[in-house]
Amino acid sequence: MTNKLSTILAHGGQHQGHHEENTGAVNAPLYLSSTFHQKKLNEFGPYDYSRSGNPTRTQLEKTIASLENGTNGFAFSSGMAAISSAFMLLNSGDHIVISKDVYGGTFRFVTRLLAQFSIEHTFVDMTNTNEVAEAIKPNTKVIYVETPANPLLQITDIRAIVALAKKHDCYTYLDNTFMTPLYQQPLNLGVDIVLHSATKFLSGHSDIVAGLAVTKDASLAEKLYFVQNTYGAILGAQDCYQLLQGMKTLEPRYSKSAASAAIIANHLSKHEAVEHICYPGLSNHPGADIHAKQATSAGAVLSFKLRKDVDIDHFIETISIPVFAVSLGAVESILSHPATMSHAAMPADEREARGISDRLFRLSVGIEEVEDLIQDLDQAIQS
Ligand code: PLP
Repeated sequence: MTNKLSTILAHGGQHQGHHEENTGAVNAPLYLSSTFHQKKLNEFGPYDYSRSGNPTRTQLEKTIASLENGTNGFAFSSGMAAISSAFMLLNSGDHIVISKDVYGGTFRFVTRLLAQFSIEHTFVDMTNTNEVAEAIKPNTKVIYVETPANPLLQITDIRAIVALAKKHDCYTYLDNTFMTPLYQQPLNLGVDIVLHSATKFLSGHSDIVAGLAVTKDASLAEKLYFVQNTYGAILGAQDCYQLLQGMKTLEPRYSKSAASAAIIANHLSKHEAVEHICYPGLSNHPGADIHAKQATSAGAVLSFKLRKDVDIDHFIETISIPVFAVSLGAVESILSHPATMSHAAMPADEREARGISDRLFRLSVGIEEVEDLIQDLDQAIQS
């Protein structure tokens, strides 16, 4: 019997009859041990040192692998650690084709760090398959996708990019932070490595910083394990435990947030003070039809640009329910200002060119009552 994702999630990956052997503990035991006793000189147990492996981390890694339908999961100390470790599979002289609409930290990693190791990049409009095809070179090894992208929610056609990558014998990496495996399963569409900032919806409580990666096949898994163990940016056991606990409630949290986001997006799309709104659940959002073919929800993040006559400082100071902060994907709504927060690492002219104006806000909808959120947004915009 194959269980649905919400069932796997609720049990933290511990299936019926597979609870902890000694006690039957319902929660994954927390193994706070950096090292493990070895019985004999040449007899090795399953664990020796927690950078190489830890039983609590194994539970988390197996859970995310089964949710993403991959061979192996890997837990890292942050989303950026997961992303940069995946890029360490490249060699100097390689080239990557990457969406120009990526998270600011990924932009910084690619332009500042990868470049130091002579790994070239070309930024493309990933929604334009012809532009992607033209950017591929003989040394291209990875096409890097984020969909929906941050913060304008641009949609990339995953199947089309995978087809292109396969034709040119390169890997597809996909940042699935915004959708989570609950709503989008890129490996099933042919992607090779899925990446997550688990700091967001997967953990869901603005408490930990964590990253996850899942591989499509065993040979990639072996290579990524080598990087994880060698580079060592692992997630500590305590945070693995906390992430597993957070993931148990992903489905009820995220489904409520997504339902509210759809209502708020609809409301703001008719608001006279809102110049533009981005949300993949609105039928006029570019790529909404493609998104609907590769994901099962429009998600809980939307962004909107306020008109020039709205005092944005006053808006920020007056809004009372969402926290005004970086990050997203938590039980509490989070209002962000991409130009000075997630995309501050991007030069101002690049930002403007990408549509990340100073009047753009990103709202990650939490689990509060949607009527309260709408009332709060309205009063803050009007005041
Ligand atoms: N990817 C996306 C889409 C993000 O939004 C973020 C963080 O905001 C990251 C990656 C980086 O993750 P972390 O902050 O956990 O390192």
